[in-house]
Amino acid sequence: MTLPPNVYDAEPIPASAREEIERLLQTGDLFRYTAAENAPVTLLEQEFAAMLGTKYALAVSSCSAALFLSIKALGLPRDARILLPGFTFAAVPSSVVHADCVPVLCEVGDNYRINIADFEARLNDNISAVIISHMRGHTSDMDAIMALCDARDIPVIEDAAHSLGTTWHGKNIGTLGRVGCFSFQSYKLVNSGEGGIMVTDDADLVARAVIMSGAYEHTWQKHKAPEGDNTGDLAAAFARWQNKLPLYNLRLSNMSAAIIRPQLNEVPRRVRDGRANHDYVAGLLNASMWLQVPEKLAPEVRAPDSIQFNTVGMNDDQIKAFAAAAQERGVKVQVFGQSTDNARAFWNWQFMPEMPELPNTRAMLMRACDVRLPARLKTPELNLIADALTGAAEDVMGPIKAYGT
Ligand SMILES: *Cc1c(COP(=O)(O)O)cnc(C)c1O
Repeated sequence: MTLPPNVYDAEPIPASAREEIERLLQTGDLFRYTAAENAPVTLLEQEFAAMLGTKYALAVSSCSAALFLSIKALGLPRDARILLPGFTFAAVPSSVVHADCVPVLCEVGDNYRINIADFEARLNDNISAVIISHMRGHTSDMDAIMALCDARDIPVIEDAAHSLGTTWHGKNIGTLGRVGCFSFQSYKLVNSGEGGIMVTDDADLVARAVIMSGAYEHTWQKHKAPEGDNTGDLAAAFARWQNKLPLYNLRLSNMSAAIIRPQLNEVPRRVRDGRANHDYVAGLLNASMWLQVPEKLAPEVRAPDSIQFNTVGMNDDQIKAFAAAAQERGVKVQVFGQSTDNARAFWNWQFMPEMPELPNTRAMLMRACDVRLPARLKTPELNLIADALTGAAEDVMGPIKAYGT
């Protein structure tokens, strides 16, 4: 018999990481700027930029640190207003507050994507920059967003923490805006416990971010322009910003880079299997009249490691009973808005200087369910998860429906 899988366990770190970790332990060479060249963090940056197709990458301590540095690197003044979706993780508006800016939230629809009409309306509210948080890897209409922001010359930061491997019109998510930020925290596609990376083609922006991430004195010399780039743009930018910026020390250690690098080869397989698992379970859930997985947008090819779906026709008590029934059957369902102190429910972000009411986003959060679905799961485990969810919905809704007819 197949038991409910532990969906919180990560995949093992590839064995090929061992030798490099052993070398780092032997030499104690854990700091990115100790070696003259080719430190694991530097190699990670080169490999990640090549994988995404960008000129530059800067590895840092978390995606939140990458978002913070992106905002600082844009050179926005104190109290600049930054627009972001009302459905995201609390760390994202926190990075805005950390950078002395003001987060402004916009509405998200019941397909977990930005409501473009509301986005456009709020974009005219004295907005200096935008963070598009691709929450749970769901891509909003980036054609519309980029057109609206480009027309107003508003820079776009992509929070692609959970979108590694996702594409939009075949282009990597994280490379559509001015800068893209990714996470290596354990619940993301590539896991080093903690870690993040930002990618951009903007030499001035990356030079500022490199220095602020903690490249003191002339350690920035270990950050090189990509092979074949003889423009001198990066060197000129470093010269321009020498001694002019604070050092926030948000660097990544060589040990984390050694854990990340061998996983980059695993990304295509994890993306492929994660998408197949997601689409298989989505088909099974959509067969239930009580559950609905929203459609993705046409230009998007997803890289999911979890599944989100909406309950249909359930009231709050029934939704709670559904989650309890699923738990009883061995599958944990998070209903974003129904659990106490949930970090993805905007009304819990009491640190916000401004708190709008977002009725559409709130309604979505009150019935949107979240189940982890790691790429390593196999068909029997997927069937068990889908059966538990559709069965739990029937436990709660089936009899009521029968009595009503
Ligand atoms: C995980 C996550 C973050 C935060 O990433 P950290 O590396 O933990 O700081 C930000 N945004 C989204 C959408 C995430 O999923």
